[in-house]
Amino acid sequence: MNIPRLRLQHRWQWKKRRLPLRLRLALWSAGLVLVLSFGLLLYISLIGLALVAGLGGVGAYWLAGMALRPVRKVGDAARRISANTLDTRLAVGGPKDEVKEMADTFDAMLERLERTFEAQGCFVADVAHELRTPLASLRTNLEVVATDSDATLEDYQAMAATQERALTRLERLVADLLLLATSEQPLARCEVTLGTLLEEVIVDLKPVADVQRVICRLNNEVDVVVNGDSSLLTQVFSNLVENGIYYNHPGGEVVVTLDQKDAWAVVTVADTGIGIEAEQRPHIFERFYRADCSHTRRHKGGAGLGLSIVSAIVQQHGGKVQVESTPGKGSTFTVLLPP
Ligand code: ADP
Repeated sequence: MNIPRLRLQHRWQWKKRRLPLRLRLALWSAGLVLVLSFGLLLYISLIGLALVAGLGGVGAYWLAGMALRPVRKVGDAARRISANTLDTRLAVGGPKDEVKEMADTFDAMLERLERTFEAQGCFVADVAHELRTPLASLRTNLEVVATDSDATLEDYQAMAATQERALTRLERLVADLLLLATSEQPLARCEVTLGTLLEEVIVDLKPVADVQRVICRLNNEVDVVVNGDSSLLTQVFSNLVENGIYYNHPGGEVVVTLDQKDAWAVVTVADTGIGIEAEQRPHIFERFYRADCSHTRRHKGGAGLGLSIVSAIVQQHGGKVQVESTPGKGSTFTVLLPP
């Protein structure tokens, strides 16, 4: 076997199979162009991608800014708001989306706060006004007697009687104000047997009823137990019965009836007194409202807080208070309390 001969033959076959130079060059160039175009394409795509991402980011930022502008407005407004600028409103327009809903809620909250602050302001002014009258009376009386060198014992006694009335008004006003403050505190609830509570109210007010020559009685249909604050409920019915006694005629009556309807306790306090004019009825539960009835007021010495206390306590218990009245014939107050 001749091995060198075989090797020569193999090299010759290999040379024979090699592609022509031009074709090889063409193929190389095509490959190079392909690689270059691919690289260029990649480069362009990357730049495009970066551009799109950049533009997208700017756009998203702008859109988010637009969408969050009302939110920023709410924040700015909240920072600026004080007790003196509660009339500020955001008044966000546009579509009804979450942001508008939030701004509207904020405006509604401001409205409620504004009304509460206004009411507080009026309340403070009313309290000051109510305090001023008895205090002025105390000072005037003192000055008159103190500067009168001929003042007699009778003058001093008359002054003492006036002072006593003024002090009674002050004491009552302070007690009513304290009660109003209490009616805004959480309730100390327990089971309250209304029949017993109403009996006690009538017994406690008997001396007042006797002086006014008014008969008070309890008409107990059923005994009802409610879940409430017994001392506050006592105050509710004391105020109603006391009004029934004072805004009455000698020989008149106050009848308290206890009943139950759909598990609710129903207490009516009906009197045969002077009644309440239709135009006054919507206002009697307002703080410091008094119908023009100077004679009764002088005797009762109320500051127009009694019924607002009743209303506040009943509402706190989740109940309702209503009034029906016929001027000249009498009034009926109905208190409904949930079980
Ligand atoms: P006041 O201390 O003046 O009695 P209230 O809040 O208890 O205050 O009552 C408010 C007003 O409602 C009274 O000034 C009175 O004019 C009227 N009123 C209340 N209860 C009766 C009643 N039973 N009969 C007639 N008028 C009443």
